[in-house]
Amino acid sequence: MDLRAFEQRILSGGRLTGDEALQLYRHAPTYWLGRMADAVRAKKHPGGQVTYIIDRNVNYTNVCVARCNFCAFYREVGHSDGYVLGFEEIFKKIEETQALGGVQLLLQGGHNPDLPLKWYEDLFRAVKQRFPEFKLHALSPPEVLHIAKMSKLPVAEVIRRLIAAGLDSIPGGGAEILVDRVRKLLNCYGKATADEWLGVMREAHLAGLRTTATMMYGTVETDEERLEHMLRLRALQDETGGFTAFITWSFQPEHTELGAAHSISEATGVEYLRTLAIARLVLDNFDNLQASWVTQGGKVGQLSLAFGANDMGSVMIEENVVRAAGAAYCMDEVEIVANVEDAGYMPMRRNMHYELLGAPVFRDREVPRMLSLAKARSEGDTSVPEELKNYPARSRAGKQQRLAN
Ligand code: SF4
Repeated sequence: MDLRAFEQRILSGGRLTGDEALQLYRHAPTYWLGRMADAVRAKKHPGGQVTYIIDRNVNYTNVCVARCNFCAFYREVGHSDGYVLGFEEIFKKIEETQALGGVQLLLQGGHNPDLPLKWYEDLFRAVKQRFPEFKLHALSPPEVLHIAKMSKLPVAEVIRRLIAAGLDSIPGGGAEILVDRVRKLLNCYGKATADEWLGVMREAHLAGLRTTATMMYGTVETDEERLEHMLRLRALQDETGGFTAFITWSFQPEHTELGAAHSISEATGVEYLRTLAIARLVLDNFDNLQASWVTQGGKVGQLSLAFGANDMGSVMIEENVVRAAGAAYCMDEVEIVANVEDAGYMPMRRNMHYELLGAPVFRDREVPRMLSLAKARSEGDTSVPEELKNYPARSRAGKQQRLAN
């Protein structure tokens, strides 16, 4: 392998083929991958700024019919721990987020058969009526697909209606690995095939929305399949230019069916850094790569800034999904800023479009420290939101619950 030739090509902006990327991913020294990824990052972001967003990750329901075997978060329909957040609870979370300087909700949840499209439309409209400037980064492609299937409407029509109700952008969740062999083994082929996931993103981009893209690695996929995932994202980005950022994290095996069945242990920090670096080299048409400190911890998150990342993602106020699978890292704005500055960069707040919003909020005014993560529902809280009875349920358990309410 002629690393010098690769170096010349990468530094002059040349594109890597899948085979070349695989060779580098498998055999290039880690320090070299980092040096190349860092050079590409510096070229795209020459100002030495590292961005982050203050938003809140709210999971509006944990009830899900998809049953992905890598997921420790979902509860089956009718399960006593299943919940749907009420509109008032969501408003309260927005107020708490705004008090910390937050600008948006990252709103995602399970595939709940008892929440029709109208519930989402009413929620989005109600949020926008109370908080007109607040942004809704909501509903990953499989959720959009689930709503489209339930409503018997084309994906484009569902996206159009959600935008009319207040949807601002779509998070790239549910991508896992965009290869159907892997999706079948993870039991997530039913929620969205690779083509369907990309199809929802294409429709969203055509409708004018910006979205992110993600990759969860470290389950049953091969190195080739990780790269195929990246190449499929690169191809769609060539076509639409609609992705703002790429985020990758490793599978969190604790409490999951997949982790127990295959004794899969979590991928190492070095593997994470190599994967991030190769993503920076392959995804030459993506401007932003986030550091996934929520799964890797603050210090690997900080190291990510030398392996291609230019963004620290979100200040964590609430997390329910990866925490259910054992990851529980929490950093508030003060800690994110300390990590960025210690690594030699200038921290800047941003919005979902990566427009700069200013210096850290806590330097302007006093904000409460967030040193532990909030949770969607405390254990055993089975309260049912009042407004749910306005929406017809599809499942037998949902119908019974509505009648009893
Ligand atoms: S990952 Fe999402 S879609 Fe899959 S089971 Fe969990 S909540 Fe449901």
